[in-house]
Amino acid sequence: MGELDVSQTLEKNRSFVDAVIEETGSDIRQCYQCGKCSGGCPGSFAMDYLPNQIIRMLMLGMVDEALKSKTIWVCMSCNTCTTRCVRDIDVAAVMDDLRKEAIRHGYMENAANVVACNNTFLWTVRSWGRLFDAGLLMIYNMKTSNPMKDMQFALPMMMRGKSPVIPIPHKIKGAKEVQKIFEKTKQEGK
Ligand code: SF4
Ligand code: SF4
Repeated sequence: MGELDVSQTLEKNRSFVDAVIEETGSDIRQCYQCGKCSGGCPGSFAMDYLPNQIIRMLMLGMVDEALKSKTIWVCMSCNTCTTRCVRDIDVAAVMDDLRKEAIRHGYMENAANVVACNNTFLWTVRSWGRLFDAGLLMIYNMKTSNPMKDMQFALPMMMRGKSPVIPIPHKIKGAKEVQKIFEKTKQEGK
């Protein structure tokens, strides 16, 4: 990251930061960088910036840096940061909002695996009304060009009766209703 003129950066991106505050109902300007959010975050080991650093970036108007970070895609929305925040900042909601904004801005370099997983998960639910875990695993592995990933667990799971030899998806009774939910959501552009 190069040198930044913080006052200009904040001025340029003030409206974005204000929109995040409005969307999440969390005044990130109240953050005093205690680090409690990051201290409890189970995904911090895989992040390029800690959650409190992302909040600090927003406070300084460093919007592009936050949107291009790996952190927002590593975040698994567990809400630990939100419950630990001493300033009532909903850090998890901020992460969620930043993901939406990253998609809107086309900053997808760090998002490929997450998008592949989400789309495959939703496809199984739309097709059968429920998650088809073996299908999710196989298709996700193919989409991410890693077809043999985790396959070492297949045989031990079959031997323990945790997985069928040939996994076949089964539709739930209300599968049509689930499909309607997907259609309605699409129509409403959500
Ligand atoms: S919601 Fe995200 S940022 Fe917050 S603790 Fe969980 S993984 Fe970390
Ligand atoms: S816990 Fe809250 S106040 Fe502390 S650094 Fe995180 S967001 Fe800021």
